[in-house]
Amino acid sequence: MSTIPLTPPHLHVISACAKALATTQPFNTRIEQVFGLLRAVIIYHDGRLTYWRDPQSHQNPMHVMTNATWNAPWDDDVITAVVASVAPYQKTTTINIAQTNGEVLAKTMIVHGIPIRWQQHVWGVLEFRTADNEPLAPADQLTIDAITPLLAAEIDHAIAALPDELIQPDDQAVLTISKHLDLAQLLSRLRQDFDPPLPLHSLLPLVLSRGIDYTGAEAGSIVYVDHDRQEIELVATHGYTVSLLPDISGEHKRHRWSWESGIAGKVARSARSLLIREVTQDVDYFYETKPEIRAKIAIPITVDGRAEAVLILDSTRANAFGDNESAMALGVAEAAVQPLRRALRYQEMLERSTQLSQVFNSIPSGLVLIDRHGQVLRHNPSFLLIWGLHHAQVNANFRVPFDLLSLLLPRFHDSAAFSDFCTNGQAKPDQEFSLNLKLRNPHQDLNVLSVPTRDSNEQITGRLWVINDLTREKEADRLKSEFTSMVSHELKTPLTSILGYSDLLLAREFPAEDQKNFLKILRREAENLENLVNDVLDFARIEANTVRINRWTVPLQELCTDLSRQLQRQPTFDAHTITLDIPIDIPPVHADKERVRQIITNLLTNAAKYAPSGGDITLRVRELSELPDMHPSGRFVGISVTDNGIGISPENLQRIWDRFMRVDNSNTKSIGGTGLGLSIVKGLVELQGGRVWATSVVNKGSTFSFTLPIAGEFTRK
Ligand code: ADP
Repeated sequence: MSTIPLTPPHLHVISACAKALATTQPFNTRIEQVFGLLRAVIIYHDGRLTYWRDPQSHQNPMHVMTNATWNAPWDDDVITAVVASVAPYQKTTTINIAQTNGEVLAKTMIVHGIPIRWQQHVWGVLEFRTADNEPLAPADQLTIDAITPLLAAEIDHAIAALPDELIQPDDQAVLTISKHLDLAQLLSRLRQDFDPPLPLHSLLPLVLSRGIDYTGAEAGSIVYVDHDRQEIELVATHGYTVSLLPDISGEHKRHRWSWESGIAGKVARSARSLLIREVTQDVDYFYETKPEIRAKIAIPITVDGRAEAVLILDSTRANAFGDNESAMALGVAEAAVQPLRRALRYQEMLERSTQLSQVFNSIPSGLVLIDRHGQVLRHNPSFLLIWGLHHAQVNANFRVPFDLLSLLLPRFHDSAAFSDFCTNGQAKPDQEFSLNLKLRNPHQDLNVLSVPTRDSNEQITGRLWVINDLTREKEADRLKSEFTSMVSHELKTPLTSILGYSDLLLAREFPAEDQKNFLKILRREAENLENLVNDVLDFARIEANTVRINRWTVPLQELCTDLSRQLQRQPTFDAHTITLDIPIDIPPVHADKERVRQIITNLLTNAAKYAPSGGDITLRVRELSELPDMHPSGRFVGISVTDNGIGISPENLQRIWDRFMRVDNSNTKSIGGTGLGLSIVKGLVELQGGRVWATSVVNKGSTFSFTLPIAGEFTRK
């Protein structure tokens, strides 16, 4: 290294020259500006730059000269000598200078020739003519040396810009290297490369590949910086051997890792470039870098002061990244800033719109966007689900209300209200409307909210409908109120009796016979209460799907005989006769014995309850040769309970299995009940793999039937 100090004015001139050369003005203008700037530190009379159309053969010379010039011709002696020696050369000569008064003055002049040299190659020659008492100082020489690589680059650029036929590209390799030299050209070329809008994960690999191309690095990688998570994500690598890759992707070849570790992380956090010219001489990074790598450069691509990506270039050659290569790498990173900013914005918008469409598509409310004419622009899956529509039915020309009305007309209770709702929306586009809608087959309670939508200029674009299915909520509300009224009624009746009779018993002495009767009543009412509590608990367990079924092989003959004998003794069955109709060879079922008893008891009790004038009740068991519609396949036993009671009308027959459903007529009113029994029966039968159904004729009687699967070994018969 030279020990000659460069003074601040020299440094200033170097940087001013670099700036002047980097502008987009014509080549000659920029060279003239450089000559002008150099006058601040170098005393010279005039100057000349010589370069060639073909820098290889030094053919076809071209010149740029200073404006002010000595009135003395230039010759090519100095240029020839400089090109031959690839070193500075100076020649002293005498010239005759014409004075303004007409006299001619002989003067000694020195011509200083300085090669514009890069990689042992002379791209041009700078000449300065000074008087013999005005030699070039060593610092002047250094100043010129400092700008020669830039001049070389600009010369290359100027040649490249010449019309094609003038170029004689006889050495393609040199031209390729020379292209790398040209920062301005590089930047403009990169801008073109990076011009088409690219998403982040396509842009970053392209930046990496350009970084490698323009610096001659053997390998490289590029990472994306995730500031939220304080992590870096490996987006692309190039040229690493397998043994080198873990250095980049972490111990377990992860693609993401904390920015606290590694060189990329350091650059990501600090947003400052890092150049390791020769790893072995750099204690800080020696241990962080794989032995094969000798030089490394890591450059942040900074958007608004934040490193959004880091370009890492590696070389197996020590000192592979000199000033030029570093400048190239910086140039690549610089050119990537705008495209990266754009890619990040695009990414953000993409993420937002993805998030939005995820929300749109997964929300349980039906959503539909319509334009001002009612044309559907977009709808979500819940929209189709709620209305029970198929995807194909809502095509590109689907309009509300017309198309919706024509598809759903049979289901509307009040289609006029729906039409009005739509007409209002069109007549008053800036207002919000809400409609509660009832549909039938199946029953649905819907709420449709219609709100105006606006564009970014607050102009109304159409409407957004939000459709909520309130069927379940309404059903839950109905169940809650039915439950409250049932419980209050059914609890109150036995409690009143229990309290009344116990008060009586406490108030005074009764004859033994009366006491016994009162206690019987107390006992019956307590039993009623117990049944009620059991029903409520069973109902709750079925609803919550927590019923435990212990299925076993259950012989029905024995179970039914035993049960009917037991029930027959109860007061409820005083006026009834239970008849059994069960073949001896009826196969056992695969079921929970206690639950089967509960089901049959329930049906027999209902038969007695709803045949108030007494009569026959038949409990029939058969192996079914034919199963009802929609019944699961297999071998089943059918069990039915037939009474000759009040019967059930056809419209009520559909609903008796529903929770809290009680047929509302004068007969049933006088007969107590919760409306839970049959829904529990249905739940328990279905849990054991069977089905329930009923047939009935009003005032004639009813038959309640259910099935149970025949136990395994018998199904194989
Ligand atoms: P509950 O008997 O407690 O009212 P269930 O769920 O057992 O409740 O029965 C529901 C309704 O079905 C009864 O309220 C009654 O109207 C009707 N029902 C049930 N069994 C019979 C039957 N054997 N004959 C006539 N109606 C019946």
